[in-house]
Amino acid sequence: MAGSMAFGVVRGTAEGPRVEWIERPVPLTADLLALTGPVPPTQVLRIAAPCQEDACCHFDGKDCRLATRLVQLLPAVAQSLPPCRIRPDCRWFFQEGAAACHRCPQIVTYSVNPTAELSLAATPEGHGAALSA
Ligand code: SF4
Repeated sequence: MAGSMAFGVVRGTAEGPRVEWIERPVPLTADLLALTGPVPPTQVLRIAAPCQEDACCHFDGKDCRLATRLVQLLPAVAQSLPPCRIRPDCRWFFQEGAAACHRCPQIVTYSVNPTAELSLAATPEGHGAALSA
């Protein structure tokens, strides 16, 4: 997606992934994507992309429902705001405030073993099947 940036790397374990924020977000280039092989980039990088609003299944016309569900369903795993460089432009933070940031370190776009809560949060409302988060 045009404008996508990598802003964190995924560390921790398969059962307990933890994002570490990088000092400066970097554009998601073909060279960067090639570096993550053989695993999918979304398994090892946190990637931000411009909000697609009405083109996204999580947007309700006003809010990002994914952000709402993440805050409602996931436990806080950080006590303070992570050193995240995209905060000034982050829709999740704008909408949910610090509560989103306190949950953000456990969020991985592609997980082979997502928790039940993460699977549920990633499932658009009105859909029965869980998505890979
Ligand atoms: S929710 Fe907070 S920590 Fe997560 S990407 Fe947005 S600003 Fe960064």
